[in-house]
Amino acid sequence: MVKDSTSKMTHEVMKHYDLHTKKSLGQNFLTDDNVLRNIVDAASLNKHTSVIEVGPGVGALTRHLAEDAKKVLALEIDQRLIPILKKTLSDYSNVEVVHQDVLKADLHQLIADHFEQGEDIMVVANLPYYITTPILMRFLTEDLPIKGLVVMIQKEVAERLQASPGEKSYGSLSIAVQYKAIPSIVMTVPKTVFVPQPNVDSAVLKMEVLKEPRVHLSDEDFFYKVVRAAFAQRRKTLQNNLMNNLLQKNQKEALLAVLYKIGIDPRRRGETLTIDEFAALSEALLHL
Ligand code: SAM
Repeated sequence: MVKDSTSKMTHEVMKHYDLHTKKSLGQNFLTDDNVLRNIVDAASLNKHTSVIEVGPGVGALTRHLAEDAKKVLALEIDQRLIPILKKTLSDYSNVEVVHQDVLKADLHQLIADHFEQGEDIMVVANLPYYITTPILMRFLTEDLPIKGLVVMIQKEVAERLQASPGEKSYGSLSIAVQYKAIPSIVMTVPKTVFVPQPNVDSAVLKMEVLKEPRVHLSDEDFFYKVVRAAFAQRRKTLQNNLMNNLLQKNQKEALLAVLYKIGIDPRRRGETLTIDEFAALSEALLHL
């Protein structure tokens, strides 16, 4: 059991070390033990599962994770927090804090250095919101041995990531994530549980990483080019967006033939296409 309430611990630590949070590093510390508990529960940890935490802050979530997980490896960019974390996490022998930028760290090497081969690894974090997308993309696209992620992120972003075709927030980001994982919103969280309070509402999103990507793609980069082109102007039809943003003028007939062959009406909008349809489309366009 975590001894002190997290709210008390955070306020005491900030006062004692005269710690002023940095907005530029997305420092909004979580102080509500119920929310922290819910995050840890969503990760379904046990003593055989280890955790990578991005941005431990003063250790609020880290302490809860250390209670349940085999080991916690926490990456923190802010040098000022390193000595503080030594103190706030001194009760836990299964935590290692490394002073690193998650966007620059060699994640494969860190995993090889800190975890056993084949071990179950979850990424659990209250993310710095200013770099939510690049962080998630790193963990999802670099073939890391990760079982899943449970992350606190901006509510609007969480909605985009789990959106289905036809929904307003469905877009290239939903597709990029759902190609590799199954996202689901665990809970939405009010601003009031953070110190300082962020300007936006938040949500805890769980992503179960798929063993194999959802669809087979011969060329992932081209797939994303097709997806981005299809969403370039949301009100335009698929045909117009692909003609204006991907293909040459003289390829119109060929495009219509491809769409006809794979059974996609050219008048549809990109936002109505499923990942399977985008995959079929990009495979067919690849040989145009
Ligand atoms: N986990 C703590 C909590 O829940 O109270 C703090 C979360 S706070 C939203 C985000 C944390 O990420 C901060 O501690 C910040 O310094 C850290 N951070 C920001 N950018 C980072 C980066 N590029 N690499 C690693 N940590 C980063």
